[in-house]
Amino acid sequence: MQIPDGLDDLYQEVILDHYRKPRHRGSLIDPDLKSEGFNPFCGDQVILSIKLSNEGLLSEVAFDGQGCSISQASASMLLNNINGKTIAHAETLITDFKNVMQGGILSPAQEESMGELLALQGVREFPIRIKCALLGWTTLQDAIAEYKNSKEAKR
Ligand code: ZN
Repeated sequence: MQIPDGLDDLYQEVILDHYRKPRHRGSLIDPDLKSEGFNPFCGDQVILSIKLSNEGLLSEVAFDGQGCSISQASASMLLNNINGKTIAHAETLITDFKNVMQGGILSPAQEESMGELLALQGVREFPIRIKCALLGWTTLQDAIAEYKNSKEAKR
C-alpha cells in the first residue's frame, strides 16, 4: 500500500507528485547540518544534509533515503519549504507542522505559511502513518540540535 485509501484526491495528487519527483534529492558533501532518521514502524529512512550560507540561511538542502510515499513526499515538501530560509524559520515550521499532525488548530496566518504542506493533514486519519509524515521533520530537528550543540562546544 503506497497511499492509504481514503485520502482526499487532492492530497493524493500533491503527495504523489513529490513522491514521484522528489525535490532536493541527493546528498551534499561536507554539510553544516546532517542527520539520519529511521521509522521502524514502516521501514522509512531519511538522510538530510544541509549547507548554511555566510548569512546563516539554509542555502543548500538535500535528502536521501527510502521508504513509503508519505515519508519521502513529506521530506521533499519540507525541504522545499525551508530552502533559503533561516534556522529559526525552520524551527517554527517544525513546531507548526507537528501541531497540525497532532490534531492542533492553526491560525489563518500559520495555515498560509504552511501552503501545500497542509496536503499532509489527511494523513492524520491514519495514526500509524503520522510517523511516516513526521520522519523528515524530526530528522531536521535532530540536525538543528546537533548543529547548535557543536557550535556551543566550539565556543
Ligand atoms: Zn512510512
